[in-house]
Amino acid sequence: MNLYQAFYERFAPYPDRTALRMPETDSSMTYGELHARSGQYATLLASSGLQAGDRVAVQVDKSGEALALYLGVLRAGGTYLPMNTAYTPDELAYFVENAEPAVVVCADKQKAVFEAIRERTGIRQRIFTLNTDGQGTLNTQANDHSSDFVTVERDDDDLAAILYTSGTTGRPKGAMISHNNLLNNGLTLLDYWGWKEGDVLLHMLPIFHVHGLFVACSCALLNASEMIFYSKFDATEALKSLPEATVMMGVPTFYTRLLAEPEFTQEKAENVRLFISGSAPLLEETFAEFEQRTGKAILERYGMTETGMNTSNPLNGQRIAGTVGFPLPGTEVRIMDENDQPCDTDGVGSLQVKGPNVFQGYWRMPEKTAEEFTDDGFFVTGDLGTINAAGYVSIVGRSKDLIISGGYNIYPKEIEMVLNELPGVLESAVFAFVHPDFGEGVAAAIVADGSANTITAESLASVCREHLAGFKVPRRILFLDELPRNTMGKVQKNVLRDQYGQKEL
Ligand code: ATP
Ligand code: MG
Repeated sequence: MNLYQAFYERFAPYPDRTALRMPETDSSMTYGELHARSGQYATLLASSGLQAGDRVAVQVDKSGEALALYLGVLRAGGTYLPMNTAYTPDELAYFVENAEPAVVVCADKQKAVFEAIRERTGIRQRIFTLNTDGQGTLNTQANDHSSDFVTVERDDDDLAAILYTSGTTGRPKGAMISHNNLLNNGLTLLDYWGWKEGDVLLHMLPIFHVHGLFVACSCALLNASEMIFYSKFDATEALKSLPEATVMMGVPTFYTRLLAEPEFTQEKAENVRLFISGSAPLLEETFAEFEQRTGKAILERYGMTETGMNTSNPLNGQRIAGTVGFPLPGTEVRIMDENDQPCDTDGVGSLQVKGPNVFQGYWRMPEKTAEEFTDDGFFVTGDLGTINAAGYVSIVGRSKDLIISGGYNIYPKEIEMVLNELPGVLESAVFAFVHPDFGEGVAAAIVADGSANTITAESLASVCREHLAGFKVPRRILFLDELPRNTMGKVQKNVLRDQYGQKEL
């Protein structure tokens, strides 16, 4: 089934209900308008020659029109390929050459970049523009097209989107995601998180990433809920809108930035029944401080571009800080040791998943795809995890970030947790440096919290010695103003390794 058809069946009874409220532009779109607009985009795309399965690459700022475009692409049977607005011309060239989209939609200011790529590669391609204010050739041409469009039929396994991974560990990979991957995961979350009539979602995430586009929008659209739709996160704006929202989704930095606002009080958070966090680990301190301030426990969940959501803390049971909760219904999660045997309870190993949420493979990378699936059909996520006796899953880090020092496996998170607790430390990132004797050694990048506490490499190392076995104590400690992060707020340990992980500094 075409994913759009499933959305439409859910919201069709409420054409006059607000779908998107956009306080920044003081505008809104009802569900009826969103349907009509997506119909105009679908008609325009189809009349431009778009065939089922053709890619539509989109690099635009977040707006209501951009969301309608995503829906229009689905309706026309195309494969939606959103791109991070921060990508450089070189990166864009890679994506366009790799994905060969039939249509590109970009802002006016990017048009010359895409034209140059088209010229060089000779890929036949229509280019439309869509600017921050919703204007551009896409908009003007769509205005002349009919909003009546019969959504193209798609099979469950047909591709709805190619979504590039965040590129935290290397070059982004195109994940092929089917209509049913998205519908299945959306319906699972709708139920697991208890979406109900009247829910309003505060949406401040980008819509070129799994979190903002799929997790957030799929839930809201399947629930025919209103979204308070901001182009980006802004703590002051969030404070204004929270009293009107019932659900908020964010990356951990949204929550730390909210907590940094003295005006963020229990009263401000009162109307929100569910604060959800994901995309990166939520610090236990943040969870605790948030609970103290608002009386509410942030619900942390775990997922990735390739799989959508895999696990979630419970809606009703206990939400435990530092864990990502239970496998979602229909998704199997297992932890395997180095010999491909299941780990015992609490054992740390390779986290693997299987289920209707798991993607169809990496676009044009059959070997990479084959490498990441086991013989019995589990996807190797690249994360290291553990499951406790109560069934809660915890993410310990990424396999690529595991430090192997003198034959010992060292999990950075264990050391980061000790460091983060120390007075004067705001946050830390532990990574490997090239060690002449041990192969790898433990390095720690520290961001000080600016409090009166003077911390030095020696003082930190000596406290670490009290809490950690000797081989885990960082041998190289450096102080940074901030950790290198990508646009999703994820710490880029490969950047730390490249810059500070050499044999000699
Ligand atoms: P790339 O695969 O290109 O290196 P990426 O893995 O960061 O980038 P995404 O698919 O956006 O790209 O992110 C998925 C990853 O984010 C997961 O594999 C996991 O490492 C991390 N992640 C997501 N949610 C959580 C969470 N709640 N706690 C810890 N890590 C999380
Ligand atoms: Mg990844």
